[in-house]
Amino acid sequence: MKILLAASESVPYAKTGGLADVVGALGVELLKQGADASVILPLYRTVRQKFKLKPLSVRFSIRLGPIIETGRIWQAVKTEENLPVYFIENDRFFDRDGLYGNYAGDYLDNASRFIFFSRGVLETVRRLKLSPDVIHCNDWQTGLVPLYMKTLYQRYMGDTASVFTIHNLGYQGRFWHLDMPLLGVGWEHFNMEGIEFYGKINLMKSGIVYSDRLTTVSPGYSREILTEKHGFELHGILRKRRADLSGILNGIDTAYWNPATDSCLPANYSIDNMAGKQTCKAALQRECGFRPLKKKPLIGLVTRLSEQKGTDLVVAVAEKLLKKHEVQMVVLGSGDESIEQEMLKLMNRYKGTLYVKIGFDEDFAHRIYSGSDMFLMPSRYEPCGLGQMIAMRYGTVPVARKTGGLADTVIENGSRQNGYLFTGFTARSFFAAVDRALKIFLRRPAYWKMVVRNGMSIDFSWSGRVQQYLKLYEKTLSEIRLINDP
Ligand code: ADP
Repeated sequence: MKILLAASESVPYAKTGGLADVVGALGVELLKQGADASVILPLYRTVRQKFKLKPLSVRFSIRLGPIIETGRIWQAVKTEENLPVYFIENDRFFDRDGLYGNYAGDYLDNASRFIFFSRGVLETVRRLKLSPDVIHCNDWQTGLVPLYMKTLYQRYMGDTASVFTIHNLGYQGRFWHLDMPLLGVGWEHFNMEGIEFYGKINLMKSGIVYSDRLTTVSPGYSREILTEKHGFELHGILRKRRADLSGILNGIDTAYWNPATDSCLPANYSIDNMAGKQTCKAALQRECGFRPLKKKPLIGLVTRLSEQKGTDLVVAVAEKLLKKHEVQMVVLGSGDESIEQEMLKLMNRYKGTLYVKIGFDEDFAHRIYSGSDMFLMPSRYEPCGLGQMIAMRYGTVPVARKTGGLADTVIENGSRQNGYLFTGFTARSFFAAVDRALKIFLRRPAYWKMVVRNGMSIDFSWSGRVQQYLKLYEKTLSEIRLINDP
């Protein structure tokens, strides 16, 4: 089976969040399990700077309204498992510092950028004669691919099926209707059953409407998005496609996220020999300017600083915890400028017990996952969440809100307990959950050890998940073939 994964980010090339982890790991694991997988991404500036690439002698032109834009296809030279990774070059669109925007906000031409990329995906399929069985698209940046497969590129598609995965419904790629001529398809698609959304173009909706199958990144989230509360105004259209929608829980790359071999850590450890975790904790305490006290609970956070992640609750609870000097806390994050400022202000007030680093720092993230005792994820909503899984793998206990993928992975009661949960989105219930964790950490070390061990024993690898994707691809493909050749 030939699968092309189309996305706007993938590790190790470009990452702003979990989407990148998922695409990279899924590609490699599909290959390992015998599928013929490849990945296609935009050629961002950082990719060109950091990776060895070769240009393929293929160029293409695309009309975006009155302008002709040209593109070129590149390929990564050395990749894990020899996974073929293609890049779409257009320097006007992708030779920039950010993936989607900069300090001033989203790039104003994001519609053009991702229309171009989506068409570039199909130009690549056509010109390199890739003939994939499935094009697996991810989030709004690739939401037009399924539409193009059924329109502009239909004759090159044969029996190719499209699968569209929603990683986060909160980001939809909504653009004004005057961008319609850039799309290259007729206004007949601009209606309630198509890509129109309250007078605007909605690229996430395009993926939902035109793909053959839909998935989300956890079973819990696949149910939640059908409700008004979590559907971001797309619940109606999602309900119509309920029969084609399923949730497959994300995995993590367990070879990469492995405390026993992780080269970013000052010491390695495993479930059978945890001594190294203490070394990691002491090193993290020093790095953050904290006193290296073994028994002091150290709480970590690695997150996008956005409203979705419940950072307002973090601020509220941190104040309360730090005032009493009960804990040490380290926050690594970037995103919303006002939240960044708020976090930095808090750090000034609690120097010595709170350390905040604004930015994206992969190595520091590893040191936080390993050196902390607890990890906070009080998300307003959470499609899957990788942080809680990575934390558990590193023997760090998550305290999380019971929503979406967090509810699917974190267990608070019984002999399988691996973390702490709260339900209502209030500082009070969040604090109560952290407090429960703290009490056990401080007073019942044997019980804490059980919680840690439970988390570390879970199989978060992609191997089982990939089986689910492969089954879904097979099913979708056989249906498409039946329709095309009854
Ligand atoms: P989301 O994709 O919504 O941001 P996830 O929990 O699914 O959240 O994935 C987040 C991924 O991004 C994890 O791998 C996490 O370690 C990483 N990450 C988030 N913020 C940072 C940061 N500031 N520095 C380094 N890694 C980060």
